[in-house]
Amino acid sequence: MRTFTTTGDLLERASAGERLQLEEGLRLWEAASTEALCHAADAMRARRHPKGIVTYLVDRNINYTNVCIIDCGFCAFYRKPTSPEGYLLTHEQIGRKVEELQAWGGTRILLQGGVHPYLKLDYYTGLLAYLKEHYPAIQVDGFSPVEVWNIARIAKMPLADVLHELRLAGLDGLPGGGAEILDNRTRNKIAPHKGTWESWIEAERLAQREGLTTSATMVFGFGEELEERVLHLTRLRDLQDESLAHNGNGFTSFICWSYQPDHTAMGGTRAPGEEYLRMVAFARLMLDNFENISASWPSQGAALAREALRCGANDFGSTMMEENVVSAAGADVGTCMTVKQIQAEIRAAGFRPAKRDSRYGVLELFD
Ligand code: SF4
Repeated sequence: MRTFTTTGDLLERASAGERLQLEEGLRLWEAASTEALCHAADAMRARRHPKGIVTYLVDRNINYTNVCIIDCGFCAFYRKPTSPEGYLLTHEQIGRKVEELQAWGGTRILLQGGVHPYLKLDYYTGLLAYLKEHYPAIQVDGFSPVEVWNIARIAKMPLADVLHELRLAGLDGLPGGGAEILDNRTRNKIAPHKGTWESWIEAERLAQREGLTTSATMVFGFGEELEERVLHLTRLRDLQDESLAHNGNGFTSFICWSYQPDHTAMGGTRAPGEEYLRMVAFARLMLDNFENISASWPSQGAALAREALRCGANDFGSTMMEENVVSAAGADVGTCMTVKQIQAEIRAAGFRPAKRDSRYGVLELFD
């Protein structure tokens, strides 16, 4: 087997789509300049997406409850079950938000909550049935791994059965929220009640087996070791291999953002913008079996997200319409971008904008 020793060799291999192993990834991060990483990642993006198109999704985040028992140290959004500021939206309140989204030309909602201690499985299936009955054209992605594990715990059912029930009731996809860093050293420090990295992977694996749409996330900048970041990516990559071989239903995409420390119990500092661009580029190079890498404007701001399109990203994320979680933690980039603003950012980076659905199918291509 050939061995490569220079950073240039690693960059060349990665941008050609060859797989880098853990040690090689560590070496690449440590030795490559940001410019070199971004250049190689941009080349890899161009190989996978040669038409010069960058996609975006018109959707809405709906945080159906902020009540949560998990107490993540980095979260400024949740309220304890006894808090007078805790809320749970009614079906009708959620329905009105969906109608506003439809008036905007949106196609997907992302239902995410806190981890509520009392809601039973029939609350979730009832909500999904209501949404499918009244808004059949809307894709419903919802309930991150920690939420579905909680539903399974309350229902005393295997998670696979819970996911099956949710899908039958109308769930289209399980988002990849809560991955943070997929390694237990850091998880135990920042969110000891959120479950192990293995439990996050298992939920996504079962969702993929069930035929649900899934996406992968990463939040970095908690003070984790570099090796943990690389492990995060290789663990995603391993599941992607497994799921693609099993039924062809792997993660649609990967998105990362930096930890937003304001108003959180944990505090700390925000990673600089350059580190975000490095992380996007590095992920593109390591995740050789992922088609799509998204930029994250809600956490990083529109300008940095635009730069990420030249560092390996081929998607500008989604409109969101309302975003309560990273904005609660001080991301000062506003809670909404209009379609026109998103298209302008994509064009400014030198690409053609395209509206997509939640499975990354192009719905409309613009000049
Ligand atoms: S990040 Fe999610 S699970 Fe953690 S405290 Fe906030 S709402 Fe709860």
